[in-house]
Amino acid sequence: MLFVDGKRSIGALAHTLERHIHGRLWLQVLVGMACGTAIGIALGPDLKLIDPQLSKILAEWLALPGELFLRLIKMVLIPLVFFSIIRGLGGANLKQLKNIGPRFLIYLLCTTALSCIIGIGLASVLHPGSYVHIEQSVIPHTGALNVIAKGNIVGRLPETFINILPENPLSSAIDGEMFGTVVFSLLLGLAFAMQPTRTIKHLLSIIDDLLNIFMTIVKWAMHLAPLAVFGLTARMAAETGLSVLLGMSMYILTVLLGLMLVMMMYHLLIMMFTKRRPLEFASSVTGVQLLAFSTSSSAAVMPVSIKTAEENLGIDPSISEVIIPLGTTINMDGTAIYQSIAIIFMAQSAGMALTLAQMVLIVITLIASSIGSPGTPGVGVAILMTVASNLGIPTGAHGLILGVDRLLDMCRTAVNVTGDLTACVIFGTKK
Ligand code: ASP
Repeated sequence: MLFVDGKRSIGALAHTLERHIHGRLWLQVLVGMACGTAIGIALGPDLKLIDPQLSKILAEWLALPGELFLRLIKMVLIPLVFFSIIRGLGGANLKQLKNIGPRFLIYLLCTTALSCIIGIGLASVLHPGSYVHIEQSVIPHTGALNVIAKGNIVGRLPETFINILPENPLSSAIDGEMFGTVVFSLLLGLAFAMQPTRTIKHLLSIIDDLLNIFMTIVKWAMHLAPLAVFGLTARMAAETGLSVLLGMSMYILTVLLGLMLVMMMYHLLIMMFTKRRPLEFASSVTGVQLLAFSTSSSAAVMPVSIKTAEENLGIDPSISEVIIPLGTTINMDGTAIYQSIAIIFMAQSAGMALTLAQMVLIVITLIASSIGSPGTPGVGVAILMTVASNLGIPTGAHGLILGVDRLLDMCRTAVNVTGDLTACVIFGTKK
């Protein structure tokens, strides 16, 4: 069992976070979003109510609490992920780990790949990119998609594999580079798990205390959430304007539909691999989904996810306390489907046609990037832009995607958290 000494404090922490659910934080966030959109439209270019210069200044001030909210969460992200992975793996039973590890990896790769494929399929059918008109820069001739067109991608694979291991984990952490940090934490966690319990007992309890300290900062951020969403949405609506927002509605709908399909995939998996009823599962996880929706951060709600798995779903702590901290960082189907739709949207809005081989490369790249995306607000969209330019997709629609990201981030976070709980149920239900 994990969190032996810190169990009570993690429980208390989850309890404090849960109070936000009962305080209807999600409702406050939704109201914040609706008011933010209205104020933003009033400030924006369509109604011409105020001077554009003044509107820009006002929008920046309105977004201030939101920027602080994002900073607070991002600030503690690296230590939070680093220590929680070590805590999860380090305290785990080695036999259990060997048993779940490879199966969880297969589950992770399959569900992420499936999410990307659903995303690409949906975007190809609904074609959200044809509803926006943007001045596109020239289609780049560099990038992996062009390399694959020339057929020499295989030569670069060994280098790609070597780069999975960070050369200097400390500089990965300092640069906020998540993937290297996750890989390093995984290796360190495994090394921890191989030590005799009495040697690492004290160290693990110190890590519990540190996790509590970082989570206290997350709690502060949560108090800001409704105001943050209000201000960020207002700025977005003021900058983007009503007509552009309407043009983006097909893109928003495609992403929301994709996320719903991923939820359905989870219900199907639960029916196939366990004897549980999907509806029962759905009602057990509503609280943590709403909290994920309100905070846009799966890392921030991790203690509540663990508590939900153990108390509402009856999962053994030896399973939930390994799968949830790991899944928070590497199991992100919501982010994967979002990124695949957004990439196809960008290509479509630039009039770029993709071949099947190029789509396969997009799926492979997105599996890796969603695994490397940490569970914090706005990360999916930031990584998306790097992936798109590395692939050679024109990023002219970048501003639009960023503009409407708030709502989509909230929704995909709820899906990411559900994915971790689905994995817990699949691996933690006795046949
Ligand atoms: N906010 C998401 C999460 O925490 C990550 C993302 O931006 O896609 O799960």
